[in-house]
Amino acid sequence: LLDADGRGRPTIFAEMSALSLATGAVNLGQGFPDYAGPQEVLDAAVAAIRAGRNQYPPGRGVPELLDAIAEHHDRFYGIALDPKTDVLVTAGATEGLAAIFLALVRPGDEVVCFEPYYDAYGADIARAGGVQVNVPLRWRPATLTDAATFVLDPADLRAACSERTRMIVVNTPHNPTGTISRDSTLELIAELARAHNAIVVSDEVYEHLMFGVPHHPMAWFAPERTLTLGSGGKTFSVTGWKCGWITGPAELIDAVIGMKQWLTYVNGAPFQPAIATGLRLPDAVYTRGADELRDRRDLLCSALSEVGFEVALPDAGYFVIADAAPLGAVDGDAFCRGLPERCGVVAIPVTAFCAPGRDDLATLVRFAYCKSDDTLAEAARRLRTLT
Ligand code: PMP
Ligand code: GLN
Repeated sequence: LLDADGRGRPTIFAEMSALSLATGAVNLGQGFPDYAGPQEVLDAAVAAIRAGRNQYPPGRGVPELLDAIAEHHDRFYGIALDPKTDVLVTAGATEGLAAIFLALVRPGDEVVCFEPYYDAYGADIARAGGVQVNVPLRWRPATLTDAATFVLDPADLRAACSERTRMIVVNTPHNPTGTISRDSTLELIAELARAHNAIVVSDEVYEHLMFGVPHHPMAWFAPERTLTLGSGGKTFSVTGWKCGWITGPAELIDAVIGMKQWLTYVNGAPFQPAIATGLRLPDAVYTRGADELRDRRDLLCSALSEVGFEVALPDAGYFVIADAAPLGAVDGDAFCRGLPERCGVVAIPVTAFCAPGRDDLATLVRFAYCKSDDTLAEAARRLRTLT
């Protein structure tokens, strides 16, 4: 997280994107689309800049975006939010996460996470002085009847929670595994959070990138204590805009604003009305985005299987996890560092999403498929040279 002198090291995403630039390798590491989002959303940002919406907006977010987020939650999930009190716009979900952890985790508080976990959780929790308690998601290779996937043992989740638990962090759909939490898991999280008076943080940035299964928000199960994160960047393929949001009980949102005001104060003015436009687009736009992404998933997953990787077909999101052991890998980190030279492709080792010690995941590698057909076809061509 931080060097002994307090400087942060580059994240695995920055490191691997730099490696891709330096070697000319196809970047299936960092999760960002190389195709454009909906034209209406892009046009709305240009129009907002031209209309002069270029000065500091309100700290909570511009009213039309707050309203659009509340409408979105009602439309897709039947969740009623007061846009004036229950919504906060953030500089991507990344700032939302930092503000939540810094505002609500006290030194020594325990924060329960599912491992592998998105790397920002670990950095933010450590910065807040919290103690991260990891619940393992275990790799289950394919059997005769079931495909490869990750599984959670509810007993591990129960064992991780105690009176020291301040927060439980859930991420559904999950990065990096592409799995979605079952209702029984969300119910158990709600039960444990209530028993220990803990806050639930639910990172749902991939909520609309679902392949044929509906998204079930954590706020259905524990609305009184859940802070949910969303991302305009993910939903509308504009990750560089850094426009996200937090929704939840007014009291918790107020606590987070107290921290957020010192982080960014406010967020990019013209992007907010543009994301509001996106959120109000018809269902068909959301469905088309997810369907196209599913095709990209299938393209990459068949190429990986053909080459010999054991692939866990993801239910949602940007990423697929593949076991490189059948290709002779013993260390996914070394495998990924050597891959640009071997075949001109960049991927991320799953251990980058783990604390030290998850040797059971050592040979797993994450590939991003949120890429154009041309990029994926070129990646597939290069990966085939591995055999
Ligand atoms: N949470 C997860 C699980 C993510 O994968 C990401 C980024 N890709 C974020 C949060 C950050 O989202 P944003 O780009 O909106 O800051
Ligand atoms: N969330 C993206 C990923 O998992 C990357 C974001 C970042 O670079 N921090 O690849």
